[in-house]
Amino acid sequence: MKISIDDIKNSKNQSLKVDFDNEVKGLETEGSVCAELVFSAYGSYINVKGKIVANVKLVCDRCLKDFVQKIDVDVDETYTLGRLKSSSEAHSGQEIELKDGDFVTELAGEQEIDVDDLIYQSVTLNIPNPCVCDINCVGDSEIEKYIKKEVSDPRLDVFKAIKIKKEGK
Ligand SMILES: [Zn+2]
Repeated sequence: MKISIDDIKNSKNQSLKVDFDNEVKGLETEGSVCAELVFSAYGSYINVKGKIVANVKLVCDRCLKDFVQKIDVDVDETYTLGRLKSSSEAHSGQEIELKDGDFVTELAGEQEIDVDDLIYQSVTLNIPNPCVCDINCVGDSEIEKYIKKEVSDPRLDVFKAIKIKKEGK
């Protein structure tokens, strides 16, 4: 699903409400993904606020069992129309103060916002890491041995450290 910038700008109060109830390419979910999103135009910015609910099919990091996790996402994203404005005006973006962690997506001349992509990004960013089927899941000792031996990605050492701390309690 794509929302055109013109549709947002031509809506009442330059605000367009979108109800999404569909599957999202790339997301393995149980049932469809539901989202209620409000797209608002502010000059050369488009802000999206709303909620996404998805029952995502995941694999437990500890026992490797499939499970379904309900992922609730509060969306608050800003897009800049970028190249649609002359370069001098584009710099006026600095007037908008962005909080830490907020990121602005540059549309760079795109006339549409890809709602599926927005939902995909928002949901995948909110999948817990480590991802476990149950807070009490102790995993499978055979699998644990296997994972410890095979995983050599230094970025994952952080999670190993967390696990050790928890077990040490
Ligand atoms: Zn598990």
